Amino acid sequence: MTAARPIPPERRGACPALSRPMETGDGLLVRLVPAEGALAPEQVKGLAGAARAFGNGLLEVSARGSLQLRGLSAETIDGLRAAVNALAIAPRESVPLDVSPLAGLDPSETADARPLARRIAAGIAARGLAARLGPKVSVVLDSGGAIPLDALSADVRLVAVPGTAHWALALAGDAATARPFAVLPEAEAAEAVLDLLGRVADLGTGARMADVLAGDASLSPTAGGEATPGQERMAPGRAVRPIGRLPLSDGTVAQGIGLPFGQIEAEPLAALADAARRLGARDLRPAPGRALLAVGLSPEGADAFAAEAATLGFITAPDDPRLSVAACPGAPACRSGLVPARAAAGEVAAALAPILDGSITVHLSACAKGCAHPAKAALTLVGMDEGIALVREGTAGAAMRADFPLAALLPRLEALVRAAAEGRRAGEDSRAVMARISPAAAGTENRMPEETMAERKTSGPLA
Ligand code: SF4
Repeated sequence: MTAARPIPPERRGACPALSRPMETGDGLLVRLVPAEGALAPEQVKGLAGAARAFGNGLLEVSARGSLQLRGLSAETIDGLRAAVNALAIAPRESVPLDVSPLAGLDPSETADARPLARRIAAGIAARGLAARLGPKVSVVLDSGGAIPLDALSADVRLVAVPGTAHWALALAGDAATARPFAVLPEAEAAEAVLDLLGRVADLGTGARMADVLAGDASLSPTAGGEATPGQERMAPGRAVRPIGRLPLSDGTVAQGIGLPFGQIEAEPLAALADAARRLGARDLRPAPGRALLAVGLSPEGADAFAAEAATLGFITAPDDPRLSVAACPGAPACRSGLVPARAAAGEVAAALAPILDGSITVHLSACAKGCAHPAKAALTLVGMDEGIALVREGTAGAAMRADFPLAALLPRLEALVRAAAEGRRAGEDSRAVMARISPAAAGTENRMPEETMAERKTSGPLA
């Protein structure tokens, strides 16, 4: 075992909870996750009003299912805190323990993850771990069911093993990349998680589980042999799309809707909350995949809720191509933005619609920071000084230089769609086609000379 060195705190990243808002290019950002995962319709309406009064009037649901308010300032943050307090919303402030928003209500889940999450939360409090861990350290508890958490990266992942009352633990990654560790009954799983988090904490507040793994090869169960059943790495999951009707174990239903590119104005959200209350929804729950779930509806109420949501501009069809595109606010909302990413996202989704079959994610980032989708995407379009960089199977940070000017974006995407149609084999999804498509067809070949790029540079509309 290698002697572990403390990780400097400046590497710890940021987690913009209500008590720790994060500075962004468009003011302070607050991530507000209700401790119990659900908000009454009246609370959602109140938050929408607070977003308008104290922020820029926009609310977001992130890919992980966190509610976010943007455009706050040092002068307005206390007003938001007072509003949240007055609405009796208890935000999560400790180590994130992500479970399905329908845990305990989903008839298709393997287990209810909430008792295990509560056991881990109690252990974190008892051991004083929250103050010793960096703000991005997280635990995912995936109990199977209608809302898989495959795409959520975590320091420790627990996945319910069907038919065993055991949990499979894996470390430092999402379902496809986390390193298998052990398969344990629930009580032992909780203790193991707490011990693992303790080892991260021992390395300092800048540490993540990957740092523990880097210093201790014995943490891999495959170091001395084959993985046992339940410990195999999982195949990459499809994008989470909890859009549509989901039956619940209490006889009611949940209706899932999406926020276009993860964002909505305060006024339509307030109107949606009114509709949810009027139609009998018990609560509204932010969900992974930039979604909201209205829970406790009758089937008729769910139909009416979906119809009102569509009228208000929400996504109600699971095959809507906008669900496959992540986009940050970009210019002019964000000072770092080099292109109008959010404004262009609709046109990008429409242009790529023929290949957005749910097997790929497209990320439109107005700078190389990649706020809207920190993970790799099949296609990442990055705003650069000279135009757009196109990254395949990578992150925005992998962009080195522009491949074409902004004005050429839509023609390039249309050419990519044509190449994918010509190259597609029977039964093949877009992920497979994109993996095979040539650099020329993907738009990363025949880059323009820099002087030509400068001439064609534009900061205006795409078309
Ligand atoms: S990725 Fe987008 S939101 Fe993030 S800093 Fe860059 S322009 Fe701003």
